[in-house]
Amino acid sequence: MYRERMRNPVRARNMRVDEVEGMHTNTSTRRGPDTASERIPDPPALPPHDRATGDGQMPRRRPRLFRLLVTLLVLVVIAAGAAAAVVTANITSRPDYPDAITFGDAAGSEAARSGGTPTAEDGYIADGDSLSLSDGSAPAVARLDPALRSALQDALAAAEEDGIELRIGSGWRSKAYQAWLLRDAVTTYGSEQEAARWVGTPTTSQHVRGEAADISPYDAADWLNRKGAQFGLCRTYDNEAWHFELSPSAVVAGCPPMFRDPTEDPRMRG
Ligand SMILES: [Zn+2]
Repeated sequence: MYRERMRNPVRARNMRVDEVEGMHTNTSTRRGPDTASERIPDPPALPPHDRATGDGQMPRRRPRLFRLLVTLLVLVVIAAGAAAAVVTANITSRPDYPDAITFGDAAGSEAARSGGTPTAEDGYIADGDSLSLSDGSAPAVARLDPALRSALQDALAAAEEDGIELRIGSGWRSKAYQAWLLRDAVTTYGSEQEAARWVGTPTTSQHVRGEAADISPYDAADWLNRKGAQFGLCRTYDNEAWHFELSPSAVVAGCPPMFRDPTEDPRMRG
C-alpha cells in the first residue's frame, strides 16, 4: 500500500506523468473528478392515510390538523432518513467488500519470515518495476483474489483499446513482506502511529489478503480512476491514486466515497 509514498515523501508533490514510468515509486494526492456521490435512499413509505369516510360527523378543522400532522411526520421521516444516510456513509462507506481471502502464514520466502529482505516469493516488486497482469508465475499477481484479477483483466483489455497499458506495481504481499514494509515505515516516520497512516499491518493490509492492486504507471491508474467503476474497480483512499480494490456494486451504483487515508478505514483498525 503505502511503501510508495513512504519511500519518496519529498518527491510526491511534483510528480509529472513523464517522470513516473513506475508510478508506485511516486505519489500524487489527487482528488478525482469523479468521486462517487453519496446516495441517499428514498424515504420510507408512509402509513396509509386514515381518511375520514365522509359521514359528515367530522368537524371541519380536523382534516386540516390531520394533514398538518401528516406533513410533519413526512418531514421527520425524511430528515431521519437523510441523517441515517449520512451516518451510514461516514461509517461504512464501502459496504460490499468481498469476504476476506486469506493465505497461509507460511506463504512467502523463508528469508522474509526470518526478518530478512523479501523476495518475489513474497510478492515483492522493486521500486520502479511493475508486472504484467498476465504474469501468472509471479506470486504478486497469481495470489490476487481471482475476482479482483478477473476484473483487472477486463479493465486491461478496455484500457488497451485506449492505448493504455495497465500494469501491477504491487499486488499480493506476504505477511512477512508487509511486516518488513511496516518496519521500514516506522523507521521513516518515527513512530508506529504515524506509520499507520501510510502502511497497513500484516493483519489489516488488503494487499496481504490479495484484495488490492497498485496500478502502474500513472496514466494507467488515472485511466482506471475514470473508467474502473464499470468493472467494479475503485480507488479506496483519496491519498493513494494507484490503490484499487474490488467494489462489485460500483458496476451499477458507481464507486463509493473514498476514505481520506487508511486511518479512516475501519478495516485498518484490526
Ligand atoms: Zn496499495
